[in-house]
Amino acid sequence: MIFDFVIVGSGPAGCVLADELSKNGFSIALIDRASNDKPHAINHFFCPYVNKSPNYYTPVFSDEMGGNSLLWHSKVYLLSENEFKNYSWPFRYKELKKYSNILSKKFKINKNLMVKSERKNDLYYRYSHRADFRNIYKYLNIKQNKKIKIFKEFSPVKLKIINNNVKNVIIRNTKNDLENIEVNYDLIFCCGGLGNPHILLNLLEKKNKNLGKFLSDHPHINLGKIKMSELPEFKKILKPNIKLNLNIKTNEAALIVNSRKYFCGIQLDYKIDPTRKLLRLFIKIKNLKLRIFLRFFSFFVRKINGLFHMVGALWKKYYKYSFEYFFSQSPSIKNRIYLTNNLDKFGLKKIDIKWDLQNEDLKNYINLIEKSSKNKKILINKDVFLRKFYKNGLAGQHPSCTTKIGKNHNDGVVNKDLKLFGYNNMYVVGSSVFPYNGYTNPTWTIMTLALRLAKKLIKIR
Ligand SMILES: Cc1cc2nc3c(=O)[nH]c(=O)nc-3n(C[C@H](O)[C@H](O)[C@H](O)COP(=O)(O)OP(=O)(O)OC[C@H]3O[C@@H](n4cnc5c(N)ncnc54)[C@H](O)[C@@H]3O)c2cc1C
Repeated sequence: MIFDFVIVGSGPAGCVLADELSKNGFSIALIDRASNDKPHAINHFFCPYVNKSPNYYTPVFSDEMGGNSLLWHSKVYLLSENEFKNYSWPFRYKELKKYSNILSKKFKINKNLMVKSERKNDLYYRYSHRADFRNIYKYLNIKQNKKIKIFKEFSPVKLKIINNNVKNVIIRNTKNDLENIEVNYDLIFCCGGLGNPHILLNLLEKKNKNLGKFLSDHPHINLGKIKMSELPEFKKILKPNIKLNLNIKTNEAALIVNSRKYFCGIQLDYKIDPTRKLLRLFIKIKNLKLRIFLRFFSFFVRKINGLFHMVGALWKKYYKYSFEYFFSQSPSIKNRIYLTNNLDKFGLKKIDIKWDLQNEDLKNYINLIEKSSKNKKILINKDVFLRKFYKNGLAGQHPSCTTKIGKNHNDGVVNKDLKLFGYNNMYVVGSSVFPYNGYTNPTWTIMTLALRLAKKLIKIR
């Protein structure tokens, strides 16, 4: 079997690429290790190729064609110019914006919404948009596309590389069937922020020294207590899914605060959700009956918690709302992934994840919290922050920087065109190529990078 392009991973990155390349007449092999292409209820799995991670770091896997677009909250906006410039991307923001505009047209979204922001009384607000699609594989009708051959529940297990050109990809399924795919032009990895370094560490003999290092994320934490009477003050940064008995029309905006390279976004959220801890447990549990039980149990706990706070609010005793902070993270050599000797169901080595908030992160987060709460004191120090984060924080949903973009092979794993340093026809797309993890949710930027790569490949092939 020979295909012009072989794409591994059918999430937002892989689907945008496959769609664009196929519509320009190229044949595509789209390979995904997921076993489903129908929605299923119990779909937050712990990544099956991860052996171990800290309990506060819970990367999820949907096991569905379309990747994690099945699980996401469809919140789309482009990486801001400020983040882009601070994080030394090796091309210009103008170029990123140009492809974001083309993508907006394709997805019928007003292009200005992707970069909308506002400065008011010294405060900076960033707007985002809820896209009206969920699973991108279905939205783009990938299954019905005649130019795309789908290999569901397959993973590459070996590459044949001659003179730095990949010629063949050997793929395997769980029944141990092997297929040999010949690559006419290029092989593109779109396996997600952890999936990309995982597969590359397994398949490449010649590995870049930065591969798998600098794992960064987008830690979330709820802090502060806000009275009902104070809510109108924060109406701009209220999440639209918060149902209020106040007559407030909500926009999707976040208040952004930064100090040098560090950024945080702030939105008003419900008071700390006790089911977050259950969510961590749910993701890590394998037994189906236990998973179903936990799902129902979490549902009841959330309802009871809501009721408790509703009644409490009547007496103005309990505060129902808090601030949700989400932070950028500085890449650290201490945060990284390693290959282990345990194998996944395709015979690939699983990875261990080492990830934590570093001292520099904590120092800056406290600084940003103080800066953001001038008139609304949130007294917190590093120890309290860490305790709260380990107890109730969220991380692992936006793994980034493990195959980062750079000017040369000492500085990055892929070049400015997302081509792997040291190889002629292998590319990587996903948050793993980000040089730095900002406050902006990553998917629209990932899709923009995928479209940019597709257009470049169409030109040269
Ligand atoms: C609960 C949740 C909420 C989120 N909300 C938002 C949001 O509101 N806005 C936002 O911007 N982002 C959000 N995200 C993040 C978003 O889901 C990801 O950024 C996005 O899905 C990444 O796209 P991707 O194509 O790079 O990777 P993925 O969507 O992870 O897709 C990777 C694909 O590669 C496949 N794969 C992996 N390894 C292999 C292998 N060895 N062989 C074959 N196939 C392989 C996987 O099965 C998967 O289908 C959220 C994530 C979660 C979990």
